[in-house]
Amino acid sequence: MSDVRNVIIIGSGPAGYTAALYTARASLKPLVFEGAVTAGGALMNTTEVENFPGFQDGIMGPELMDNMRAQAERFGAELIPDDVVAVDLTGEIKTVTDTAGTVHKAKAVIVTTGSQHRKLGLPNEDALSGRGVSWCATCDGFFFKDQDIAVIGGGDTAMEEATFLSRFAKSVTIVHRRDTLRASKAMQERAFADPKISFVWDSEVAEIQGDQKLSGLKLRNVKTGELSDLAVTGLFIAIGHDPRTELFKGQLELDEEGYLKVDAPSTRTNVTGVFAAGDVVDHTYRQAITAAGTGCSAALDAERFLAALA
Ligand code: FAD
Repeated sequence: MSDVRNVIIIGSGPAGYTAALYTARASLKPLVFEGAVTAGGALMNTTEVENFPGFQDGIMGPELMDNMRAQAERFGAELIPDDVVAVDLTGEIKTVTDTAGTVHKAKAVIVTTGSQHRKLGLPNEDALSGRGVSWCATCDGFFFKDQDIAVIGGGDTAMEEATFLSRFAKSVTIVHRRDTLRASKAMQERAFADPKISFVWDSEVAEIQGDQKLSGLKLRNVKTGELSDLAVTGLFIAIGHDPRTELFKGQLELDEEGYLKVDAPSTRTNVTGVFAAGDVVDHTYRQAITAAGTGCSAALDAERFLAALA
């Protein structure tokens, strides 16, 4: 059993690094798979983070994640910038396989693989991320005070983002592919009643314009094919998220939208010794601080589970 770890953490965003920090400080010597391409998680793709407590003047996303990484490493977390490609979580000893085919064993596993926001798939979308293009009104709304903003989508999230943004914005235009909304009645009514919000129906974004910053959108009417311009300096894409749970299908219980199910308020999944935290579980809050908070909970849950085994 000497090659069996106490705990393996899969994922390296705020949830994974916080779980790593806590389990390392509890002398559990965690092994962390950070991911091959996106080590550091979602905040590696953003500019300024103004709402993570403790940074009075804000901090750049990649710097915040480098700090979290270094803090976990300082206490002995072993960090590997590689993907996990297979898991077997069912037995008492869990196995995790990396891209080289090496099998790693542990008594406990913490899953913090996050979720991926859906993209429009247009040129310029990534280049202008953090420069006018955003997926999170709570995170970035404040940067768009008195500006003209477009929100893409027709579900609850899009309505929530639009009504939230209308507090700051000069105007909010909701662009939706259909002529009716998917959002709940209550959310629709709030959006319809808001004098700052208007709608462009049956339309999709054909082009995201701008060089260093977003300068506008070209819209296409999906029924007539007609093109039109929308001058906005903010674009919020609210067409859904995909939790990264492919690896766990058939082993861990998922909800109808593919998020991992936990026995809240604990982070226990349906499999003994497996815990989950951060955006891979969370439909609702999706913030760095909430991911870090549940990462801490997962570490404490794993620590107590391991102590009970001893
Ligand atoms: P993530 O940060 O998504 O990290 C998941 C990690 O898991 C990634 O590193 C990935 O590589 C890894 N992973 C996935 N699959 C595997 C695998 N098979 N093997 C190994 N590793 C794997 N929140 C705020 O509070 N403030 C903000 O200002 C803010 N701005 C944002 C800006 C942008 C552009 C985006 C996209 C999000 C923003 N958020 C912000 C939200 C915040 O980033 C997320 O809520 C948070 O990062 C979620 O943390 P997490 O640890 O759950 O997952």
